[in-house]
Amino acid sequence: MFVFVTIIFVFVAYTISIKFVYYRYSQVWPHLRNKISTPLNTVGNASFCPTRERSSALLRNSEEDEPRVTAGETRALLVTAHPDDECMFFAPTVLKLVESQATVYLLCLSTGNYSNQGLQRKRELLDSCAVLGIPSDHVTIIDDKELPDDPAVQWSTALISSLTLKHIRNYSISVWEERMQTGKKKVGVLTFDGSGVSGHANHIAIYVALRHLASAGRLPEGCQILSLHSISLLRKYVSVLELPVSWLLPSDFCCIIGWEEYKHAKKAMLCHRSQLLWFRQLYILFSRYMLVNTFQAITVETKNVKIY
Ligand SMILES: [Zn+2]
Repeated sequence: MFVFVTIIFVFVAYTISIKFVYYRYSQVWPHLRNKISTPLNTVGNASFCPTRERSSALLRNSEEDEPRVTAGETRALLVTAHPDDECMFFAPTVLKLVESQATVYLLCLSTGNYSNQGLQRKRELLDSCAVLGIPSDHVTIIDDKELPDDPAVQWSTALISSLTLKHIRNYSISVWEERMQTGKKKVGVLTFDGSGVSGHANHIAIYVALRHLASAGRLPEGCQILSLHSISLLRKYVSVLELPVSWLLPSDFCCIIGWEEYKHAKKAMLCHRSQLLWFRQLYILFSRYMLVNTFQAITVETKNVKIY
């Protein structure tokens, strides 16, 4: 009985203290929140390289319309599998990047046509991106038979690699480096990790393809890929209570948002009207991914080569 009461007491005290700190200091945190990072690659913006690419890509600018990268401009590319991934999993990152004046591009590799709602879901994605601060001409939605919204279908590593690489080059995705008191932070391409956050096979396929690109040395110099940490169910659904854990555990890139930004993330989620089932409402309330993102850089594996 004593142990039970102690556990309850500690839990309640933890909850109250975290909520107090979070709301009391949410205005101060933007500087503190940008906890970062271990230097991994040499820095150097990819040069502008207007490669032609069209085929089934929808809703994007032609490369001729794309302005050249200006000095000091930062460009980040978010690669997702389905409409709603951008806000369901990456909202804190997108909001923080936009707030930091970075130019964010989204490459969504399917229309989310699993229930034949592809057209509607494309519109919902654009609405969501507008809320998050990504203009519609920075959004590319791929509609390709080889990349259906279906966890039972194995997506082609070669196709994902090729599409992503073309976008990295077309958009001159750069490494974002900012010296801060806590060190450096770097952003290039953002995507899922090997567990896909929700375990969806399409998410994992993107990680596999991008890891392949990195290990094959095909990325432009200085371009870095960051994969979003998948965490345990227990940590995933305790909302604000999870923040200290994310804060303390090592990561290469960490974005934490405050109350006002959370409202934007929630609004973006509500744009996906076709997906708003009861458990989505619970997700908005309790998911830690609505408040914080932590990333690991995909490092290039150098093989031990011996020449005789
Ligand atoms: Zn998804």
